[in-house]
Amino acid sequence: MATYDVSNRSAIVTGAGSGIGRAVAHLLATNGASVLVTEIHDSAAQKVVDEIRQLGGTAEKFVGDVTDPSFCENAVAAANTLAPLRIAVNNAGIGGEAANIGDYSLEGWRSVIEVNLNSVFYGLKYQLPVIASNGGGAIVNMSSVLGSVGFATSSAYVTAKHGLVGMTRNAALEYGVQNVRINAVGPGFIHTPLVDANLDEATQTFLAEKHALGRLGEPEEVAALVAFLVSDAASFISGSYHLIDGGYTAQ
Ligand code: NAP
Repeated sequence: MATYDVSNRSAIVTGAGSGIGRAVAHLLATNGASVLVTEIHDSAAQKVVDEIRQLGGTAEKFVGDVTDPSFCENAVAAANTLAPLRIAVNNAGIGGEAANIGDYSLEGWRSVIEVNLNSVFYGLKYQLPVIASNGGGAIVNMSSVLGSVGFATSSAYVTAKHGLVGMTRNAALEYGVQNVRINAVGPGFIHTPLVDANLDEATQTFLAEKHALGRLGEPEEVAALVAFLVSDAASFISGSYHLIDGGYTAQ
């Protein structure tokens, strides 16, 4: 397991009750951060908090919906009471419906854009000034390999994940002088509850073969990249989009 020192600071991880967010929360906590486990389901948040405490780490839950700007604002204040907020991982996301654009429902489109794109703006809006006033830090926005290529029937998801790359670049330009680094991470298909809920076994096998490594990724593999990017070891990396896609886009 990768180790990158992130002690003496707090970290917000959204969607931390499951999948990639859970793995990130575990790794940041075991590397010394006080983690605010931000999640829409109370039981999932509590489970991750209990797991982190059993590992000897520090964590508190903060339950709510990232599409509510006041929840995002309150999460920043809550994290800052644990230790100075210097890390945020804006990870919460949903898959959305599968349909060509002509058949995509307006409600489905708005929901994916709200959860996967607008919520990251709400998060950054409150995280950036506080992290800057704490002397600086680092943020990762969870995009996807689908932040760089399309995927038929997933237009809302693809649009949101491309948008996150642009939002990341702009945030890096605006806050770099205040010592805040902002990066985007683009995982290939990762074996998580989100993938299990949206893709049947045959589709997962088909997709595994689309990766040069011939398999889906694991949440812990993405967490290792995120932990590096938010640690002081990545002190000159900002405004970039980091694929971790098992070779999905190699051809
Ligand atoms: P996951 O297992 O479903 O975990 C995401 C967590 O976020 C879930 O607990 C989910 O709750 C929560 N969440 C959803 N909407 C929320 C909201 N409005 N407010 C607060 N929490 C909310 O998903 P994952 O696969 O780990 O994905 C995490 C992130 O990585 C997402 O942004 C996803 O797009 C991205 N990603 C995933 C993959 C992949 O292949 N898995 C690849 C590239 C990028 P619910 O269970 O209720 O939805």
